[in-house]
Amino acid sequence: MLGAAFLVPLPVLRSLLDPLRAVPSTISELTLLQLIGWQSPRLREGRWNEAKLLREATESLDEMSHAARADGVNVWARSGHRTLSQQRYLWNSKFRGRDSVRAPDGSRETLDGDLSAEEKVQRILSYTAFPGTSRHHWGTDVDMAQSFSDHCADYLLEHPGEAQPDGDEGAPADLPENCLPSHRWLLAHAADYGWHRVYDVARGGFQPEPWHWSYLALAVPALARYLAEVTGDLLRDRDVDGDSVVLDDFASYRDRFLLGVAPEALPGPAEPEGEGEPPAEDESGESPTVPELP
Ligand SMILES: [Zn+2]
Repeated sequence: MLGAAFLVPLPVLRSLLDPLRAVPSTISELTLLQLIGWQSPRLREGRWNEAKLLREATESLDEMSHAARADGVNVWARSGHRTLSQQRYLWNSKFRGRDSVRAPDGSRETLDGDLSAEEKVQRILSYTAFPGTSRHHWGTDVDMAQSFSDHCADYLLEHPGEAQPDGDEGAPADLPENCLPSHRWLLAHAADYGWHRVYDVARGGFQPEPWHWSYLALAVPALARYLAEVTGDLLRDRDVDGDSVVLDDFASYRDRFLLGVAPEALPGPAEPEGEGEPPAEDESGESPTVPELP
């Protein structure tokens, strides 16, 4: 049936021939409202984790957690997919002073009612994404339970070097059980399963988050779609406190926070439709923004 091959559209044929160029169908099928967490895609709960994620991410996370258990380490994801309304609850609770925010120096503060909306937003953004822009909306990213707990998060942020696989022993006894072993195991092995830290160092956006891991086979194309298709207008009128501070200059927010991730988490330059080199400049004549490394 050789003739049937000619009926396959060229882009489909090309994606079959070159899997690196193909957007996984789980990502290409996401709607805009799913990309911003307003609606939820089909999610799977893992066997070894309580996080719900897109199917391939759940399968990979389970495989990784199973391998960690074989090494005597408990790797457990606590938070996976999050809806816009769940992110909004976290955000508005901080904005209204019902929940504390973590400052870049590690201290926690409750936002004073006298602060301007702009000041509140800037402080919340140290560790919390604006609702509708979180990577957790995509079903590709997780927060690992042990390193997300307050004691361990504080410790990892204060002593990042000691969390390396061959780092010093002698961590304080009040750390949660398995906090450092699980974090060290992930640093040594997670990449083998496609999981990477994206907020590993400060890049002018969010502060480092040692607990946050991303399944890049799905998260990179999800980010590419988000950057190309989501506008600030899509996020308006969704009852998020202080939203105009972010949405009135959404391009800056996008450059600083969505692009402020590890280089391997960034989509490559767009492939031109025809042959030849990709254009070095976009239509406005300006080079695309690339976040500065610290
Ligand atoms: Zn996270």
